[in-house]
Amino acid sequence: MRLLEERILKDGKVRPGGILKVDGFLNHQMDVHLFMQLADQWHEAFAADNVNKILTIEASGIGLACIAGLVFDCPVVFAKKTKTKNIDGSLYKTTVESFTHGNIYDVIVSRDYLLPTDRVLLIDDFLANGAALDGLCDLVEQSGATCVGAGIAVEKSFQPGGQRLRARGLRIESLARIKAMHDDGTLEFDD
Ligand code: 5GP
Repeated sequence: MRLLEERILKDGKVRPGGILKVDGFLNHQMDVHLFMQLADQWHEAFAADNVNKILTIEASGIGLACIAGLVFDCPVVFAKKTKTKNIDGSLYKTTVESFTHGNIYDVIVSRDYLLPTDRVLLIDDFLANGAALDGLCDLVEQSGATCVGAGIAVEKSFQPGGQRLRARGLRIESLARIKAMHDDGTLEFDD
């Protein structure tokens, strides 16, 4: 999506270790008008999929998911980070390895908010190694709901998550795909 690519070039900053900083418009300060345009793209892509629920992960996916919820006109659920060791039967729980923070954490979703009848669209700001999407897919699978696919703002296609998850059959609609990030601060998009 040209608009998002141009915004990344204008306001994004390449950091060492393959990290793109976009917190001026995507995941700290949020440009909600831009979010609406991203959500419109996902809505077009998944128009035929009868999405009735959006699932994201705490924290940086929540803003995007909420705007997508307005466009899809459906509830938005976020997988919550937790330190609880024991879970009772009222929750689905999975483990996620954070790319940006280099740690492992558990996330939960209440069984009340993911139902076997749900048709779920996953939303997140970034796709890198795919651990966040793995976790979300696992929660959907535990619930018996159907995952129709994932809407991602920025995919770093030089990292393996996208290829691995697509090979597993997950449909992923990424609106900007970065194929390379360089030490001089420049980056390249996929064609
Ligand atoms: P993955 O689980 O696919 O490795 O990484 C996805 C998660 O890591 C996203 O939810 C996002 O918050 C974070 N992330 C991954 N790469 C980047 C990056 O280059 N910049 C920022 N700001 N966050 C990233």
